[in-house]
Amino acid sequence: MPRSISVTLSLSALSQNLQLIRGFAPHSKIWSVVKANAYGHGLSRIWKSLSATDGFALLDFNEAILLRESGWKGPILLLEGFFSPQDLLLIDQYRLTTTVHSDWQIDALKKAKVSQPVNVYLKVNSGMNRLGFLPSRIEAVWQELNTISQVGEITLMSHFAHADGPEGVDGQMQQILAAGENIAGPRSLANSAATLWYPHTHADWIRPGIILYGVSPSGKWRDIADSGLQPVMRLRSELIACQTLQAGDRVGYSGRYRAAQAHRIGVVACGYADGYPRHAPSGTPVWIDGVFTTTVGTIAMDTMMIDLTPCPQARIGSVVELWGDNLPVDDVATAAGTLGYELLTALAPRVPVIMIE
Ligand SMILES: *Cc1c(COP(=O)(O)O)cnc(C)c1O
Repeated sequence: MPRSISVTLSLSALSQNLQLIRGFAPHSKIWSVVKANAYGHGLSRIWKSLSATDGFALLDFNEAILLRESGWKGPILLLEGFFSPQDLLLIDQYRLTTTVHSDWQIDALKKAKVSQPVNVYLKVNSGMNRLGFLPSRIEAVWQELNTISQVGEITLMSHFAHADGPEGVDGQMQQILAAGENIAGPRSLANSAATLWYPHTHADWIRPGIILYGVSPSGKWRDIADSGLQPVMRLRSELIACQTLQAGDRVGYSGRYRAAQAHRIGVVACGYADGYPRHAPSGTPVWIDGVFTTTVGTIAMDTMMIDLTPCPQARIGSVVELWGDNLPVDDVATAAGTLGYELLTALAPRVPVIMIE
């Protein structure tokens, strides 16, 4: 028997999420963001369920080549552009669209020997200070790109730092509008949060990532609970042992949990080597047999312990959901002081994956 842990991926949830997102932004095309191995879901496993998309956005050449070689003929956008001038050979060969965010990339384009013009996403640094040219330089850079025969269509692109929080997008939108005042052509601005909450940012192409997978961009499930989006990934395991504690007994490494009174606990076959966050404290939510309970003690490499007080019927073999439809990954992430993004992308390769239609 294999260890009882597994991940189930609902491919129907994935394609329905994409369909819903189309409804949120009916006038825009969609770059489905599948970087980081499709946010931990496995690009080769899931991309066909997203084939109603207009394009795929990612950042590793390996992932772009995988998509082409498995038959995707539509657009592919490299969100970080190319990393060395030689990469332009791959961009040409596999017909990739590239972000341009730095001067050296413009020089490389000028010198490149390509068989057809390369479509370019010109990145505006509208305040995040991660990638891109300052708004004051955009017009000049755009004009320069226009003189380069190796460059095809140019799209203005920017990225929001606060679309998931109270600060919103207004400050950055002003920068973007100023940068592009005299520039015709398409725009791509909105990530998941802006797609959901700021329709005026939708423009020509939206770039949703996390909401495709049914997880909240704000880290709070309640922010998307009524949207119709459904979690794609469900991480499940089983109890492999039970213990009865007496008042004062301690649990796990460093004995961080101490029982105030006698109660039962269960041992779940899931630990940080499966991708469960080690820093999740006692009290992190867990679902078992239809009820919610919590972790007790420190998460170990292969196991974690949970309180069985709310579920006296639980026994060896009881099914435990670590996150999924019953327990949003957002709630686990909040307890662990992180975001669903980090938990999904940290799923360990040793966890077997089961796909359901
Ligand atoms: C990751 C990424 C996205 C998608 O972000 P989500 O918050 O997952 O929607 C969009 N654009 C860029 C440039 C990105 O790097």
